[in-house]
Amino acid sequence: MAEDPKDAAPARPRGGFFAKVRRGLFMTHTEILEKLGTAVKQGLGIDESVLESLEEALLSADVGAETAGALTDAVRQRASVATRKDLPAVRAMLLEEIEAVIAKAPKPPARPAVPLFVTFLVGVNGSGKTTTTAKLAAREKAASRSVLLAAADTFRAGAIDQLQTWADRLELPVVRHREGADPSAVLFDALSAARARGVASLLVDTAGRLHTKKNLMEELSKMRRIAAREVPGAPHETLLVLDATTGLNGLEQARRFVEAAGATGVVLTKLDGSARGGIVLAIYRELQLPVLYVGVGEGVDDLVPFEAAEYARALLGDDATH
Ligand code: GDP
Repeated sequence: MAEDPKDAAPARPRGGFFAKVRRGLFMTHTEILEKLGTAVKQGLGIDESVLESLEEALLSADVGAETAGALTDAVRQRASVATRKDLPAVRAMLLEEIEAVIAKAPKPPARPAVPLFVTFLVGVNGSGKTTTTAKLAAREKAASRSVLLAAADTFRAGAIDQLQTWADRLELPVVRHREGADPSAVLFDALSAARARGVASLLVDTAGRLHTKKNLMEELSKMRRIAAREVPGAPHETLLVLDATTGLNGLEQARRFVEAAGATGVVLTKLDGSARGGIVLAIYRELQLPVLYVGVGEGVDDLVPFEAAEYARALLGDDATH
């Protein structure tokens, strides 16, 4: 296979969550802090105009109206009793409130010790499901687990070949049918193959839309039933893949995936270069789901486990990071 130009590009920054997400979050936090800094300088400490600027800054970072309002109210209440009236004080309060939002969401469950671990990747077309499937497969392989991929996105033109290309590069097997085939049939075959071959990890790339008029959510529910029938407890993990650049518009749709597809965690893609890092908070507060990974590029290594505490600090500009 011809070398992918992305692979030949100069080494991407590596090493830790901060290094990977810094670009995206740097833009977000610069905006928040600039707005806040100006407001604090103009006002006399943490007054209403500063709080308004804070809410506005949070909204522009895409934390969502509800979350921006709740965070600002929390700072308002605390600021009235605060003695320190400076930007670091607002920042510290906000950091605590952000950490509290994250702490309230359910924690990702520990990976069960099962012979075959089944992961579904769900989400709308273009969110990055196929790419994320490949990135997760690479991680599983690196953890010395045997992997099988299921190309169950039979709707999007080219999705099956795209997954196959990744699989070839990673030297991993794929179960595939033709384009337009029944996604549940692909899943059934993949589950059978995984059991027969004693595979440890089955990653299922699902469709964001269907060929038929059949409802996508019904199809995903059916796939869940098939998985559970064939492998007890499956799917063990259902990852909702969300594109950070579509911002809050995606959240309404995301709710349907949580309800109907039983999403257990989120992978937030395209955080590289997006100034919308605040969406992580909207996901925690409004979907009540943990973010498990963030995508920071198109390469197979561009997936990093989400670090909530580091994220909160990076969002508000951690002095140690730059
Ligand atoms: P799907 O329709 O959900 O399967 O989406 P794809 O996996 O085909 O991804 C859609 C596009 O987004 C592709 O061009 C991917 O290379 C790109 N993509 C996926 N994840 C990321 C990411 O984390 N960062 C960037 N910059 N691009 C991404």
